[in-house]
Amino acid sequence: MINREDHTFIGCDGQYADSRIVLFGAPFDSTASFRPGARFASAAIRNDSNQIETYSPYWDRDLSEIEVYDSGDLELPFGNTERTLKMIEEYTDYLLSDNKTPFMIGGEHLVTLGAVRAAVKGYSHLHILHFDAHTDMRDKYLGEKLSHATVIRRCHELVGDGRIFSFGIRSGDREEFRWAKNRIDIRRFNFDGLEMTCEYIGQNPLYLTIDLDVLDPGVFPGTGTPEAGGVSFKELMGAIKTIRDLKMNIIGLDINELCPPYDQSGISAALACKVVRELLLIV
Ligand code: MN
Ligand code: MN
Repeated sequence: MINREDHTFIGCDGQYADSRIVLFGAPFDSTASFRPGARFASAAIRNDSNQIETYSPYWDRDLSEIEVYDSGDLELPFGNTERTLKMIEEYTDYLLSDNKTPFMIGGEHLVTLGAVRAAVKGYSHLHILHFDAHTDMRDKYLGEKLSHATVIRRCHELVGDGRIFSFGIRSGDREEFRWAKNRIDIRRFNFDGLEMTCEYIGQNPLYLTIDLDVLDPGVFPGTGTPEAGGVSFKELMGAIKTIRDLKMNIIGLDINELCPPYDQSGISAALACKVVRELLLIV
């Protein structure tokens, strides 16, 4: 089921038994609404991670100080969405019941649903922190219930009202915003209010999902659905710092929607590598 590459994300060569965090790729992009290619993200991130340091000047910590097991990519059946989600759910389930923190690299955003399906089984009070340019709260997209444009709506069906907190949102249809009222806390354009939200969530189990298109396409062009008016890398780091400073109880996380075919300069993959490193060092 797992295809373990001969190389791992930099500094993530720990043994499974010793590692609290397990990194894995979910290379799936079959429901991408505009430009597919996110299936290549985990390979690009592993490959380009050799260009970054294992040391983070942000936290004064080094990946060599922690044990992380990079288990490679799930071998997913492209085109079979339900079976893909099932495989992600089963693997996440396995990691959670083994007291690991699953860290998934998408893939398109729909992969999050598989992980959340697993997480709600063990954590009935699961909260979700969602960074994205897009609401992803449609009930259906092109007639499909399972799409990267519906993923947060599907997650809401699992966790219920008042449990999902979205930041950076600047795209969606009016109906989504209307539907979300009193159900999902949508913060538009940036991370204003994140600290208060984190204080409110407290030590409840938290799943963090970062759709990297929350970043401005100027700093992160390599994504399937670029949306102008996004946050800067510094702002994203500020948000990660808030999560770290408030010692949030992150039980699982993912980053998604890096699309290497649209990353001609490689800056988007380089940025994603850095985000992975900083997250590994704070969860
Ligand atoms: Mn998304
Ligand atoms: Mn998005």
